[in-house]
Amino acid sequence: MDGSGEWAEAYRRAQQFVSQLTLLEKVNLTTGVGWEGEACVGNVGSIPRLGFPSLCMQDSPLGIRLSDHNSAFPAGGTVAASWDRGLWYRRGFEMGMEMRGKGVDAQLGPVVGPLGRTPTGGRNWEGFSPDPVLSGIAVAQTVRGIQDAGVIATTKHYIGNEQERFRQAPEASGYGFNISESLSSNIDDTTLHELYLWPFADAVRAGTGAIMCSYNQINNSYGCQNSYLQNYILKGELGFQGFIMSDWQAQHSGVSNALAGMDMAMPGDTLFLTGASFWGPNLTLAVVNGSVPEWRIDDMATRIMAAYYLVGRDEVYVPTNFNSWSRETFGYRHPIPQLGYGQINYHVDVRDEHGRSIRDQAARSTVLLKNTGVLPLTRNERFTAVFGSDAAENPRGPNGCPDRGCDNGTLAMGWGSGTANFPYLVTPLEAIKEEVLSFNGIIQSVIDDYAYNQIGALAGQATLAIVFVNADSGEGYISVDGNEGDRQNLTLWLNGETLIQNVTARCNNTVVVIHSVGPVLTNTFVNNPNVTAILWAGLPGEQSGNSIADILYGRVNPAGKLPFTIGASRRDYGTDLLYQPNNGGAAPQDNFYEGVFIDYRAFDRANIEPVFEFGFGLTYTSFEYSNLNIARRSAGAYTPTTGLTSAAPVLNNVSRNLADYQFPANFSAVPLYIYPYLNSTDAATAANSSDYGLPTEQYIPPNALNGAPQPRIAAGGAPGGNPQLYDVLFTVTATITNNGTRNGEEIPQLYVGLGGPNDPIRVLRDFQRLSIDTGMSATFVADITRRDLSNWDTVTQNWFISDYPKTVHVGSSSRNLPLSGTLEL
Ligand code: BGC
Ligand code: BGC
Repeated sequence: MDGSGEWAEAYRRAQQFVSQLTLLEKVNLTTGVGWEGEACVGNVGSIPRLGFPSLCMQDSPLGIRLSDHNSAFPAGGTVAASWDRGLWYRRGFEMGMEMRGKGVDAQLGPVVGPLGRTPTGGRNWEGFSPDPVLSGIAVAQTVRGIQDAGVIATTKHYIGNEQERFRQAPEASGYGFNISESLSSNIDDTTLHELYLWPFADAVRAGTGAIMCSYNQINNSYGCQNSYLQNYILKGELGFQGFIMSDWQAQHSGVSNALAGMDMAMPGDTLFLTGASFWGPNLTLAVVNGSVPEWRIDDMATRIMAAYYLVGRDEVYVPTNFNSWSRETFGYRHPIPQLGYGQINYHVDVRDEHGRSIRDQAARSTVLLKNTGVLPLTRNERFTAVFGSDAAENPRGPNGCPDRGCDNGTLAMGWGSGTANFPYLVTPLEAIKEEVLSFNGIIQSVIDDYAYNQIGALAGQATLAIVFVNADSGEGYISVDGNEGDRQNLTLWLNGETLIQNVTARCNNTVVVIHSVGPVLTNTFVNNPNVTAILWAGLPGEQSGNSIADILYGRVNPAGKLPFTIGASRRDYGTDLLYQPNNGGAAPQDNFYEGVFIDYRAFDRANIEPVFEFGFGLTYTSFEYSNLNIARRSAGAYTPTTGLTSAAPVLNNVSRNLADYQFPANFSAVPLYIYPYLNSTDAATAANSSDYGLPTEQYIPPNALNGAPQPRIAAGGAPGGNPQLYDVLFTVTATITNNGTRNGEEIPQLYVGLGGPNDPIRVLRDFQRLSIDTGMSATFVADITRRDLSNWDTVTQNWFISDYPKTVHVGSSSRNLPLSGTLEL
């Protein structure tokens, strides 16, 4: 850590703070108190001597999980479809303000891992898009928004966390798989740099205070003890100055994790509720006996405190005023041992005016896929019929299934830890009914997907049918309808295809609205002439109904574009999840053989026609593209970073006497709680592990304790990597004209062909969301940086621009690119 980028002041203050701490206090900053030990999904210990409270880590990437009086924002994979930098920032800021108001120090989001290698990946919807540039810009804006509100953003899960299945051996065994270790995502160096690492670099450059390491192994080394990926790549090459927090139970050892670069153990116990920890007392012992050097514990604590100061936590702190484990006002602060009875929830309403913003965010993220002219609706519809359980509320209530682990009622978020409780959920049926009544129309609905007679009868009377269908997925600890986190297929849930067929059989004006976690197969209805419009509304959050009504009735002109490809079959995506163990009882091996060719890059390479391509979306007006101009910008040559780092500082020296670390006299310990104290002056007894005393050569690689200056990394130099990677080499402009009959917004997209035999045909590099009134023109301005034109060289371990001819393409989707030119380097 060197305080580079915007970190100088935060680094200085953190060092000042940490140099006052005892070893026990430093350990307390790094180790969680154990699962359900305090109010948040994760808490570290406090430093009472300095009046420093415990830090609170709370899910999720779309709002506050396990709380109340909070908002439920649209999911990351939904707002990705807005391609709107301002919207991403605003959503991040609003979430950050809510977290801050509840007393959360670190929000456990945003997500860029999974990136979305395969469309069936259960948690793709928590992230943004399988395109690294779209994801990278979205994550950077979200990080800035959250942190400008004074809360630490935790970009996760680093890295290769592309499927739920086999992420953790105990979870897999619950599903009947007998494996002893987590799956290994085997990723080559080029694919790592050009695809999966790319958005993490953007998050680091934007200043993300924390990064969460993942459950899976990468190239057969666990995410949280992979020294190459944490020390060398993340902290070295990307210059990450914040702290690495483990995913919950993703830590598998003690000293190894510390030396490999992990800085905070979450939730602190080895497995939930064991009362034992790899760190806590064991980290105290490891520092005392020298298997973890003092500079390393100082570095951990400094990184945590630097993130804290960077976002200004010291200025906006409020005590945590909710409790994750109960919605009751009174209860136990420590629910497992039932201790500390008192007020645990203060029901602070942190929603502000966010509901209005959420309505707008979801509407702006809605993608119009098909429209024969029926939309926008005219408000002269004589008889509107609404169909599908997805139009109405879950009969058990919007929060009726824990962590949204069911597919009952309208789908507005997936399931798992990436959720928030709804304050309310405006259903499509409610909003459409209000609309129709306002013009004195007729509206009826059938929300039982299987009431075939009633569906047919109602469809036969309707002049307009609106059918709501969905497809859900989520995190691996919950299985819904046989989908163990990941989806088993890309078809609609609850026989949505049959529902559409039953309605279209009797009504020739059927609008289909899809709520889904990602791509779904549309083959059975997309070309049906009675399907007059199709909308993809993603996972819109609490204002779902209002957002879709704004689009249907034309108050908002749709402008969203697909952040993924909709193909005709799952095979067309070229790669799939690993559904069966393939290595006996050892770690399943998931080889990312497809390299950088995921989503549209796979379709382009194999020359497969998608049903709806990446970047596609219609509007109620039309746009014309003209006047491509390519201006070369002056930038210096690319120079590799050289020289040496400084030595790792030791901020104060700790006592080597075990007697100094014992539990204080008369201390009343909370059962199962993780403390930094030792319960014996005998090290082996205090360690409570038969491994204690193993010769260090058996588990500490050569040089792992070395805090001497190290060579700086050529591709590094500042947060985000070598700063010259971000030099602008070209500015491309084009004229976009609204030649239709309505004011609207268009998202021109710039793609680059890097030209090499192993390169994708084209890759997205920039975009802009432009508001253009009818008859008017606007200028699209896009920058192409050095990074945008570079490939990763595995030999020099640096970025380089190849000699292959570089082309640039501008248009309204990845397959509609009317303007092209070449880049003369
Ligand atoms: C998830 C994380 C989450 C954590 C805390 C884990 O299982 O993978 O995304 O932040 O739990 O709930
Ligand atoms: C918790 C989640 C956590 C998961 C880890 C669940 O019981 O609610 O927060 O992500 O376990 O597997």
